[in-house]
Amino acid sequence: MFRVDYIPDLNVTCFNGSKSPTSKKRKKQTEREGSAESESKEGFSDNYVDASRSKKSQVAIGHHITQKIETPKKPIEVLPQEGNERLFVDIGRWIMRTFFKGDMVHSLKPFGLVVGVIAVITGYLSIGRVYLDPTSIASSTFNAYLEMAYVLVFAISVSVGGGIIGIAGRTTCPKCGQKFMFTRKKRLITGQGTHRGYEVTNYKSDWSCDNCGHKEKVPEVVERAIPED
Ligand SMILES: [Zn+2]
Repeated sequence: MFRVDYIPDLNVTCFNGSKSPTSKKRKKQTEREGSAESESKEGFSDNYVDASRSKKSQVAIGHHITQKIETPKKPIEVLPQEGNERLFVDIGRWIMRTFFKGDMVHSLKPFGLVVGVIAVITGYLSIGRVYLDPTSIASSTFNAYLEMAYVLVFAISVSVGGGIIGIAGRTTCPKCGQKFMFTRKKRLITGQGTHRGYEVTNYKSDWSCDNCGHKEKVPEVVERAIPED
């Protein structure tokens, strides 16, 4: 009539009609009624299976049963580099080679100073001058193009300069001290959720140094603003 596969940690209780035999006659009667009833309901309707205290148990009674079994969540591997990280690392290495004779431990203060000066000058020539004299931009087409060029250089110097200095801090090898060398090689998502309009992602990442080979496993938590539609 029904079949329950043997599962080690499953508690199964079966009720087949009344269990109080007041008289043999009544018992027989109940059995007859019970069998008749169960036949009419395809033979498994009054079998009660209690699986509430068992974990990861499979319960299957009756015909045409589809089961959903939850599998444990595995960490998802994602690309190790995010956004402009790789680009900034490459620009950073180029800066060290070009301006500091390949001295990868050299301080980035001179670079920061030059970028800062460029940002201040172009910032003044573009935004500052227009703010002080709004008619200067409209005086000629050449001035307008020049204005745009200043704005562009200002924007690049702030974003790229800031990005490179930021990356330099994060990619300095804790062992050999070289900049733009300690980079993420593998990234796994171990958890994800939302919190106050932010998507919070937990990562487990493998970082290693391209110079000395120093390796570290780093847990990372990244909050990203959820874009509004
Ligand atoms: Zn190193």
